Amino acid sequence: MVRVLFSCPSCARHIRTTEVACPFCGGVVAEGAGAIPARAWGGPAPMTRAAILLATAAVTAGCGKETKPPETSDAGMMVVNLRDAGVIITCNTQINRLSMTELPKILDRMIAVGARAWQIQLTVPMGRAADEPDVLLQPFDLDEVFPMLAELIPRARASGIEVVSGNNIGYFGPSENILRGRTLCGHSSGCGAGRVSMGIEADGTIKGCPSLATSTWSGGTVRERSLREIWERATALRYTRDRTTTDLWGFCATCYYADDCKAGCTWTADSLFGKPGNNPYCHHRVLEMKRAGTRERVVRVEEAPGEPFDRGKFELIVEPWA
Ligand code: SF4
Repeated sequence: MVRVLFSCPSCARHIRTTEVACPFCGGVVAEGAGAIPARAWGGPAPMTRAAILLATAAVTAGCGKETKPPETSDAGMMVVNLRDAGVIITCNTQINRLSMTELPKILDRMIAVGARAWQIQLTVPMGRAADEPDVLLQPFDLDEVFPMLAELIPRARASGIEVVSGNNIGYFGPSENILRGRTLCGHSSGCGAGRVSMGIEADGTIKGCPSLATSTWSGGTVRERSLREIWERATALRYTRDRTTTDLWGFCATCYYADDCKAGCTWTADSLFGKPGNNPYCHHRVLEMKRAGTRERVVRVEEAPGEPFDRGKFELIVEPWA
């Protein structure tokens, strides 16, 4: 059961329903203010994930290797042709150091082709991304990325584009209402792996999330056990249902949101450090560290061995906020 936080009427940060003053801005919270969870964004009902998946095509503007303008490139023409044939156009963008400055142009292109949905997520150091540490965002880049998203998302929605925040976009910063105001509880509720999502591989292997490394996150295969048994009993599937704040470490273990967030995306932390429970790619965390004059840097200390779901190893360095 997700405990509902509510949005501070003064600064929009999410706070516990028991607070009498906002721990972030100090604003006095009127009695009963927390009775209604935050719902910041109105507008038409969102497209269901099924609708998005049924008819989808990638808007490729800003993909880097195209040399022609997007409207005349092969990929750009393909998108226009699909749209004209009645296919719903959606876009899936990974945010990293190559793409972050392109986000406004990607949105412009989406609006131009009449796209209907935009899923955003941060690039995680898995697979080829594990070999490109300079392409990954540094945690402090979120101080730039989230204000940009807070401007772009309302513009996207005003243009009829539903924005879906991937599980590693977060958490609990001043833009949480914009990112997740339309979800059931109005804010992030932690990792969905094994709670609201499940991955099925071609050979029947079941995981809580398709992105998690199979070698360590397989709950078994439906060739040997029933899906129900795997879902209900396998430790790898139960992980996010059973974990508590005692499983957290680093900054996440001390965080105001630890109970509700539990370090967010398991995949992100696991891909960085080889274990979940501490996630430096968090806007709240970056802001708290900035307030204290510090920031974190992820540094690759071990290369990925070249296996499926490839992962290297990263360490966190704390340094002064520059
Ligand atoms: S610091 Fe960790 S626990 Fe706190 S909100 Fe961020 S990811 Fe969640």
